[in-house]
Amino acid sequence: MISLYKKLSRFAARHFAQRWLPLRKGRGVVSFTFDDVPASACQEGAQLLESYHARGTFYVCGGLTDGIEQTQPCHSVQALQRLAENGHEIGCHTFSHTNCANASMALLDEDWRKNQDFFEKNELITSGFAFPFGAYDLPSKLSASKLFSYSRITAGGTQVGRADLNALRAQALYADSTEADTILALIQQTATEGGWLIFYSHEVTATPGLWGTTPEQLESALRIARQLSCEILPVQKAIEYFKN
Ligand SMILES: [Zn+2]
Repeated sequence: MISLYKKLSRFAARHFAQRWLPLRKGRGVVSFTFDDVPASACQEGAQLLESYHARGTFYVCGGLTDGIEQTQPCHSVQALQRLAENGHEIGCHTFSHTNCANASMALLDEDWRKNQDFFEKNELITSGFAFPFGAYDLPSKLSASKLFSYSRITAGGTQVGRADLNALRAQALYADSTEADTILALIQQTATEGGWLIFYSHEVTATPGLWGTTPEQLESALRIARQLSCEILPVQKAIEYFKN
């Protein structure tokens, strides 16, 4: 019964509470996002984006600041402030890297509030959200839609025609498991069909773990996106681009 309930719950989360953004600008958009925000994403990641005159989106858990996550040293407050000053977007990722599909709404509301307090204390302005683990259910999707300008999930692939602002689909950019052919094909599809491809990754180092990227892989994706004349925009800026 539990598994049937879970299946129904997942179906409901995917197919209800949608907020459609039409993608009809002609030109494709590629966004680069970094979850948990390891220190290397703030440094190597941001620098690479900036060398392509592009900016990214960084989803922060205040509870990970100055800590270690998956063996990777995490961001400092100063690093986040520098990102914001340089035009990158800072987003929420819950305070405690909470699995939103399992948490009670009371716990989740408290965790979101705690992260908002962290942002306010450190003078960081945020409006968007990424679900940790890409995990969500209908109640958390609905609650997030009231608190944030958008919510990003994982799910893979690009989006064409329209995108659900309450569950923006994103594609892993992992050195270990994302093939170069996949990256090329997705950017080509995005460019040809005027879609929106959102990449997500974690650390940016020469020897990343399973959930990180290398400077080479990140740069290759940036280069292809530029060669195919895609816009490269942080997620919130991309939404404004499609709306205007
Ligand atoms: Zn995460």
